[in-house]
Amino acid sequence: MSIRPERVRILTPERPEPQGSGPVVCWVNRDRRLRDNWALLYAQEIAIARRVPLHVVFCLVPEFLGATLRQYDFMLRGLEEFERDCTSHNIAFTMLLGDPREQVPAYCAATTPSLLVTDFEPLRIKTQWVDAVCAATSVAVHQVDAHNVIPAWHCSPKLEFAAYTIRPKIKRLLPTFLDEFPAVERHPFPPAAMPQPTDWMHVRSTLRVDTSVAPITWLTPGEQQGRALLDAFTAHIERYQDRNDPTKPGQSNLSPYFHFGQLAPQRAALEVNRLARTGAEDCPVESYLEELIVRRELSDNFTFYNPNYDSFEGFAAWAQSSLNEHRDDPRQYVYTFEQWQQAVTHDELWNAAQRELLSTGKLHGYMRMYWAKKILEWSASPEEALAIGITLNDTHALDGRDPNGYVGVAWSIGGVHDRAWFERPVYGKIRYMNANGCAKKFDVKAYIRRYAESTLF
Ligand SMILES: Cc1cc2nc3c(=O)[nH]c(=O)nc-3n(C[C@H](O)[C@H](O)[C@H](O)COP(=O)(O)OP(=O)(O)OC[C@H]3O[C@@H](n4cnc5c(N)ncnc54)[C@H](O)[C@@H]3O)c2cc1C
Repeated sequence: MSIRPERVRILTPERPEPQGSGPVVCWVNRDRRLRDNWALLYAQEIAIARRVPLHVVFCLVPEFLGATLRQYDFMLRGLEEFERDCTSHNIAFTMLLGDPREQVPAYCAATTPSLLVTDFEPLRIKTQWVDAVCAATSVAVHQVDAHNVIPAWHCSPKLEFAAYTIRPKIKRLLPTFLDEFPAVERHPFPPAAMPQPTDWMHVRSTLRVDTSVAPITWLTPGEQQGRALLDAFTAHIERYQDRNDPTKPGQSNLSPYFHFGQLAPQRAALEVNRLARTGAEDCPVESYLEELIVRRELSDNFTFYNPNYDSFEGFAAWAQSSLNEHRDDPRQYVYTFEQWQQAVTHDELWNAAQRELLSTGKLHGYMRMYWAKKILEWSASPEEALAIGITLNDTHALDGRDPNGYVGVAWSIGGVHDRAWFERPVYGKIRYMNANGCAKKFDVKAYIRRYAESTLF
């Protein structure tokens, strides 16, 4: 087997082995790409060994945790490419519509697979879907972490305290797990008949989403474009030194592709790691790998092991008690959700950040911290601030509803993975940020000008 066994978990110990002569079905949830996909590679390897067809299914729910047309559009256009890629590789692609807890078991009943393979996403709803499918089918179900370089369950068996506790584990395992992907093959055992191509117009007509949040045009979704953007980024990786300056093009902008599973973080890590060998002094490889692997996989660890990852109760005890002590502190301003959303606070820097998010579907990483911390400062309670931060992020950001998003907001508002700082009103011991700090880092006026009111559609 060319896939490391640690990447795979058997979810049905009472029926661990593939059985019968049916196809291997790969139920894709999080990692929606043909190449560099450990779940698909694992499914194909077993299908080839058993000389059976390989099916890919994706189950589309008409609404999902507040996702809007902006995010559905990015996902669906990527899935169109994924379907074409599967078909050209003799892999049957089927789009199921509705509740996966019903649709996936029904698909299994109709196709009697020898094995169901699925990928891994630690969010509560995805875990519930997978558990329900395991309970409603009689097929062996294997889960593959196709998103993390080091499988989340193997990297650490427990909730990690901070980056400094998970980093040594990652560093120790990285030489083993940062391996090159084998190529996916044109499947040698095609199905008797390929499924009808998906009617994408019909698929779109089933959505029940907010269409007022428009798709973006400055990024093109899909596996090919994700790879092209990675190549463009690595060609100028020295720009990453400016990653904390939101007026400069320092960041990779790859998070939407990672989030929608159109690009493997491991592919980015492999390509960036190659640059380390050039040894150029201005090559910030280590900083990029720290964000891409340590910080990102720490977010998966948090959402995997902390059932309260999106609520106040998920904060560390020191942060909860400090925020509780400052619960009744007077706030200089208290804004409603609508005021936040419409970017009409008294703070032009905050408004500019919100307008960046509204108009581009992405908020610069440095500004994300300022943006969320000010929501804590000018909301009635930390619970309300957390809910507002998550909702705004999930509604407008292309990469929202991601472990990174829940952790990013919780880091800013609840000190998750951070340490206690000097105590001050409202924040308690949560790390503080202000506009003066931003002014020391970048040209605040230029940033405000860039996202002036006229940038909104
Ligand atoms: C309040 C707040 C909300 C956030 N919401 C999200 C979100 O919804 N989705 C999301 O993917 N990230 C989120 N982040 C983390 C981070 O800001 C983004 O991952 C990053 O800005 C994405 O842009 P990029 O791909 O150009 O980043 P780059 O700087 O080019 O980084 C490359 C990759 O490293 C990872 N990464 C970078 N910074 C972090 C970080 N702080 N924590 C974890 N992983 C990181 C991401 O996968 C990112 O794509 C949030 C951070 C904060 C403070």
